[in-house]
Amino acid sequence: MLNIVIFGAPGSGKGTQSERIVEKYGINHISTGDVLRAEIKNGTELGKTAKDYIDQGQLIPDSLMIDILASVFDSFEDSKGVIFDGFPRTIAQAEALKVMLKERGQEVSVMLDLEVPEAELMVRLIKRGKDSGRADDNEETIKKRLNVYHSQTAPLIDWYKSEGQYRHIKGLGTMEGIFADICTEIDKMGGKQ
Ligand code: ADP
Repeated sequence: MLNIVIFGAPGSGKGTQSERIVEKYGINHISTGDVLRAEIKNGTELGKTAKDYIDQGQLIPDSLMIDILASVFDSFEDSKGVIFDGFPRTIAQAEALKVMLKERGQEVSVMLDLEVPEAELMVRLIKRGKDSGRADDNEETIKKRLNVYHSQTAPLIDWYKSEGQYRHIKGLGTMEGIFADICTEIDKMGGKQ
């Protein structure tokens, strides 16, 4: 299986590039942000809990996220692979993902870090908030999310480097150009379909 972690700050383009990867390589997509937003929309207990954290720009507790992730992963049948978008976001989540995959005879094939300068992230997220009305894409919450990214999520860069799975992708440029760089990395691992 081709198990890809797509990584980057909020607004780095993980969702957009994930859709393209899914289409080209025929793998499944887990976007934890999308899963949580669907729960909020459906008014579930999980959704109610998640909404409080998301509105504050905070992360949902690891234990909850790890359970959600395993159940979505196990719902895929005859999967060729999975792209993890928005997970892991903490070292504890990365360790849990490693264990979960190992228990299933799998491992992360590659971690793609989409790097985008902070000023550009702000511009993109404020625009996304205006276009989509996403409640957490307002200036105050974006600043909190970027702080959370730096303190809790960015340490994963070194973690994945030490696992030998880290690949840097320049996240500035055209969507096509960035996608081409991503495909180059995936194809190096024999991911070509
Ligand atoms: P973005 O990448 O733009 O921050 P996402 O849609 O991936 O947006 O996530 C939106 C929010 O959902 C996050 O700010 C966080 O509160 C919550 N969330 C998503 N994934 C996780 C995760 N793996 N762990 C904890 N919280 C998460």
